Amino acid sequence: MEELRTQLRRGIEDLRRGATQIDKFSPESTDGCPECHGRGLVLTGDEARQCRCMQQKILSNRFRHANIAMLMRQFSFSEFEFKYYSKQLRDDSAVNITYYETAQRAFNAARRFVRECLESEHARGLLLSGPVGCGKTYLAGAIANELVGYGIEVLFTVVPDLLDEIRSTYDRQEGGQSEIELLEAARKVGVLILDDLGAHNYTEWTRNKLYSILNFRLIHQLPTVITTNLTLQELDSYLGERTTSRIVQLCRAYRLAAERDIRLVKSQESR
Ligand SMILES: [Zn+2]
Repeated sequence: MEELRTQLRRGIEDLRRGATQIDKFSPESTDGCPECHGRGLVLTGDEARQCRCMQQKILSNRFRHANIAMLMRQFSFSEFEFKYYSKQLRDDSAVNITYYETAQRAFNAARRFVRECLESEHARGLLLSGPVGCGKTYLAGAIANELVGYGIEVLFTVVPDLLDEIRSTYDRQEGGQSEIELLEAARKVGVLILDDLGAHNYTEWTRNKLYSILNFRLIHQLPTVITTNLTLQELDSYLGERTTSRIVQLCRAYRLAAERDIRLVKSQESR
């Protein structure tokens, strides 16, 4: 009961915080609900319980805050497909293990990350590196969905989009405006996911901002997931040593690799 109460309270806070966004983006409303007729509560005897439509609304609002793309909301641990990872072929990186083993290790690390986030606000982060189309974003999405489902505050950011935001703060600097919300959220959110920290066009400004996000999260020990198709050495040359060293301190590193680009294989399968 106590747990439900906490959930309700959190839900209400979520709704309050997100009220403007709901008005803007959510055409669905509880008004037409046949069960509660828009009250959000259902009475059974003298007990009031939250209506299913409200629970749905709270959940979808959490997803909205989490910034997880529609497509990605289907990503889940239970649907992770190990069949794309060969049990015979070996990953040609430095470690002598099969593709299947890289998938097992990364998968277990992702689940462990979720477990630790449920136990503590200061779970150790996770760095997933590997070639394009090896399932990194899938795992990151599964982590996000799982955490959101448990009511944990998550922000899923795709790094090129984040860089665009950061650039726009540069343009606004002259007006003396404060940092925009996404950047602040990236620093402080309960769990931050940085998807595709790759070979993008970094400027001194964007590099500094990325550093400040990661440095803040390291100092405050805030759980962070990073996916990248770069090696640590490459990250070093793109982002600079101080940022790479923050990443190393912040995260446990796992390599995930498949013998072929899974997205390509999937698109061929569906033909
Ligand atoms: Zn209802």
